[in-house]
Amino acid sequence: MRLRTNPKPAEASSQFPHLLAPYQLGRLTLRNRCIMGSMHTGLEEQADGMARLAAFYAARARGGAAMIITGGLGISPEALGMPQHAEHSTLCTPAQAQGHRLLTEAVHREGSHVLAQLLHVGRYDHASGGVSASALRSTLSAHTPRELSEAEIEALVQAYADSAALARLAGYDGVEVMGGEGYLINQFLAPRSNQRRDRWGGSPEGRWRFALSIIGRIRDRLGPDFLLMFRLSLLDLVEDGSCRDEVLECARALQHAGVDVLNGGFGWHEARVPTIATLVPRAAFSWATRQLREAVSIPVVASNRINRPEVAELILARGDADLISMARPFLADPELMRKAATGQAEQINTCIACNQSCLDAAFEQRAVSCLVNPLACRETEWQLVPAQQPRRIAVVGAGPAGLACATQAAARGHLVTLFEAGDEIGGQFQLARRIPGKEEFAETLNYWRGQLLRHGVRLHLRTRAGLAELAGFDHIVLATGVQARTPEVPGIAHAKVRSYAQAIMAPHALGKRVAVIGAGGIGFDVAELLSEAEGCGHSTPAGNEAEVDAYLEEWGIDRGTGSAGGLKPPAARPSSREVWLLQRSPGKPGRRLARSTGWIRRLRLERRGVQMQGGVEYLRIDDAGLHLLKDGQALCLPVDHVVVCAGQDSVRGLAAPLRASGALVSVIGGADVAQEIDARRAIEQGTQLALSL
Ligand code: NAP
Ligand code: SF4
Repeated sequence: MRLRTNPKPAEASSQFPHLLAPYQLGRLTLRNRCIMGSMHTGLEEQADGMARLAAFYAARARGGAAMIITGGLGISPEALGMPQHAEHSTLCTPAQAQGHRLLTEAVHREGSHVLAQLLHVGRYDHASGGVSASALRSTLSAHTPRELSEAEIEALVQAYADSAALARLAGYDGVEVMGGEGYLINQFLAPRSNQRRDRWGGSPEGRWRFALSIIGRIRDRLGPDFLLMFRLSLLDLVEDGSCRDEVLECARALQHAGVDVLNGGFGWHEARVPTIATLVPRAAFSWATRQLREAVSIPVVASNRINRPEVAELILARGDADLISMARPFLADPELMRKAATGQAEQINTCIACNQSCLDAAFEQRAVSCLVNPLACRETEWQLVPAQQPRRIAVVGAGPAGLACATQAAARGHLVTLFEAGDEIGGQFQLARRIPGKEEFAETLNYWRGQLLRHGVRLHLRTRAGLAELAGFDHIVLATGVQARTPEVPGIAHAKVRSYAQAIMAPHALGKRVAVIGAGGIGFDVAELLSEAEGCGHSTPAGNEAEVDAYLEEWGIDRGTGSAGGLKPPAARPSSREVWLLQRSPGKPGRRLARSTGWIRRLRLERRGVQMQGGVEYLRIDDAGLHLLKDGQALCLPVDHVVVCAGQDSVRGLAAPLRASGALVSVIGGADVAQEIDARRAIEQGTQLALSL
């Protein structure tokens, strides 16, 4: 057991004295107090995955992460529930351990340390239901797991220790035993999933026995020098989850069993409380990490919605934690800590917690990357190398696609001129950042503003580029975006009709009863904005306790330590307006929203009383309101305003005349494909084009 050390803050002149202070963690000296947390990247399942993982982690080590925790590695071929993909994502044979040396050596060469995360998913095995403490199905699974026999439990304890021994053989500096997020060990810890009557269940001590046996066995096998971290669920956020009094008692038992450092986890995968989405305030859980820190005398790690060095510094300075874990922020910017340490924090590409290219991609079994940094997880494929011959490039449109293309092309040494018809850069991001809970999108705009300046892009705002302005360039990139679609409904020109841009820019100008036509991503955004209770503004700075309290109340999270799963009834926050969210397609709106966040958005609107209806036909709009046909019946919604969110059409009128004039033209983003205007595709396409110029 290693008691926590009290590092001296780094130089007083530094902006982040606590974050940048070195930290002694057992025999490991960390160069700062920031760990890169565990993430599954999908590279683990690829044939050349180990080389790609090595390059991915080496870039984060080079960028200043003091220690890296790998994505979950299965302790047995079945542990991840996908044995067909187990090549680089399990750690159960000496040959696999040898393969991992590529990764560990790459990280060590860059001066960082690396831990292997040991994982068994238990009943989150979606293919078969897997195994668990008891035969109780998770709400996420179609299958019921099989209850483990005592002999099987003993074998699993041994498998964890064997896997830890292989981790040492592979060159890892230690392991993180995954005991949170509702995975197998967590399934043993909580009464929700452990209803055994034998010595592996019943009393709290019985439910903890599996975790404590694993820790004891690893410690016996590997001796005192091998770093042993445990990810402990501080808030299960599910019914019949553990209460925090019990969790803190368990933490003390883990410390005595030989754990060196505790990493706090928040929410099982089946929890219906958002814990990492962008609407969760920054540092929303550091109070719970502080409770843990007060209960034990080993170091503790804070995680979840810590996305910038300012947030990390605040948590450390308050004494809420000894170390900080950031995971997705290292996808968004591998150089995050190097920039923090060298006075360049304003140049950090901030993770905006959108989940669009990371978590949602993992759910859809697509390769993981990052919305704001599509180079992530493509380290061996996409490289930002200087252009062989600088060229004069015009980019038309400063939305996400145009900004990504302009900044990356300029970073490569091209001479880039960016034309924007509006008053400011950002395009659809200017709308997104105004949606409650999406304020983080402003960070990406700040980043791009800095990149434009840094790389000398000539920006012409309020300039509608035509053939004359675009003459003489070697290459013209049209990122002219989209225009909102106007549906053919009688009365669509009525004074009570607003575009979504008008509604988002001036929500206070709308009346108390509003119908929203179209229930895609933007329809949901507008419904959220219009149904937000008055006085519930958001901001991004960390440490806004009033905002954290409002979030905890809205989602029913209890700061007290006695409630099961850390839950209490959510506070009612009824809508400030009567809002109808409508679509023509049958079924409930919102089915096509992203998997990691769609449920949050639907639940939020339901709780606010927004009326979501599918299968409607729009008949007309007049002074009385919006007339519909629904289930064969005509009705009139007596609304003050109708907001149109019916998708978009591409704007690329310049392409044909430019091409006719002999110019070299590329069309990207919404100007290329409007149907799926999505920021992920736009930024990826803009970046890819810039790398090819
Ligand atoms: P969208 O997702 O394509 O939704 C358009 C909506 O308009 C649909 O509900 C459609 O439903 C309706 N519609 C289409 N044509 C219509 C017509 N002629 N008359 C009446 N209704 C019509 O488009 P969006 O909401 O504008 O979003 C655009 C893109 O932005 C999305 O694809 C998404 O990638 C991105 N986005 C994402 C988020 C997010 O939270 N992840 C947020 C905002 C935007 P019916 O045809 O059934 O009526
Ligand atoms: Fe963060 Fe979004 Fe990038 Fe994921 S895709 S790392 S949530 S910015």
